[in-house]
Amino acid sequence: MAHCVTLIPGDGIGPELSEATRRVLESTGVELEWDVLDAGADVMDQHGGNPLPDHVLESIERNGVALKGPITTPVGGGFRSVNVTLRKTLDLFGQVRPCKSYRGVRSRYEDVDLIIVREATEDLYAGIEYEEGSADARELIGWIERHDGKVRADSGISIKPISVSGTRRIFEFAFDYARKNGRRKVTAVHKANIMKFSDGLWLRVAREVAEEHPGIEFDDRIVDNLCMQLVQRPEEYDMLVLPNLYGDIVSDLCAGLVGGLGLAPGANFGTKAAVFEPTHGSAPKYAGLNKANPMAMILSGVLMLRHLDEMEAANRLEAAIADVIAEGKSVTYDMKPTRDDPTAVGTSEVADAIIDKLGAAVA
Ligand code: NAD
Repeated sequence: MAHCVTLIPGDGIGPELSEATRRVLESTGVELEWDVLDAGADVMDQHGGNPLPDHVLESIERNGVALKGPITTPVGGGFRSVNVTLRKTLDLFGQVRPCKSYRGVRSRYEDVDLIIVREATEDLYAGIEYEEGSADARELIGWIERHDGKVRADSGISIKPISVSGTRRIFEFAFDYARKNGRRKVTAVHKANIMKFSDGLWLRVAREVAEEHPGIEFDDRIVDNLCMQLVQRPEEYDMLVLPNLYGDIVSDLCAGLVGGLGLAPGANFGTKAAVFEPTHGSAPKYAGLNKANPMAMILSGVLMLRHLDEMEAANRLEAAIADVIAEGKSVTYDMKPTRDDPTAVGTSEVADAIIDKLGAAVA
């Protein structure tokens, strides 16, 4: 039976990456039925100013699985991020971002194999904010001062909620993922020395959950120290579990260890649905140029196939991608020695090369 999947092409480079990914996934032989739906700034006028229309959410809930291209978030004004709203509305609390070295990628590091698990609903990223000078901000500042805190009167304020239940949920998810995927160690990342009631809580609950999983090694790192150690000795780490904001930042750092954002896939897991999408954004300057690297989105498709229990096809596709990377011929500009390398190919040619490898494996 075909798997029904919601496909959100996104904007910027999203549509061309989605098209490339769809072609590649279909050529694995796995039967996929796509419900293609748009979201983002380009469609909000057609839906009463809503960039994430209800029928998109309903489709994801019905299918339980979505593949998504990046969607632009306007800086400053405009709507709140569609990506954040999607994660919040569907309660997609567990974001998984694997960072793995492939042979042939130009990088300072070899043999990196990290899994980033990011809690995706809480923390400073939850978007609870009060503008400087607003009545709410002034009221909060008054309250803080009555409780012996000192805040400048012209401050904007962002709130960092981290709950016991949300922390327990993400660490149970991480240990479960470690067990199912044969990972050896979970590292809890935090700044508990400074933020005792948010990151301190995070670390305390992490230790409690770790005690319930004695078969998997556990340790913890302060986030700034972790960043330094990652660029010195990434091989010492296996799975990193981070609150939302550190997870966002450290996953880009780890993408840099394995060759850049063009190679960093991602998945968002919730209780009702899973949404697969690359780590990178919509790179508007490359939109429509057939230039961007589709591998992060295609690798997100590999994660989706594994989630759909299509293990053989997922492994075959990952091997085909690895072959194309190792050959180094049919790769985009970002994987060449220099950014203006004339031998770089475009988005659709990368997809063609992967499809050829898949065909050669069958023949
Ligand atoms: P970005 O990831 O779009 O781009 C950062 C740099 O990485 C770009 O200069 C580009 O050169 C490079 N890059 C990114 N993807 C690439 C690819 N596939 N191939 C080759 N090079 C690639 O990040 P940004 O510029 O900070 O964000 C642009 C927009 O995307 C913003 O509106 C942001 O909010 C949004 N965004 C969306 C998502 C999402 O949809 N999940 C994630 C991150 C950012």
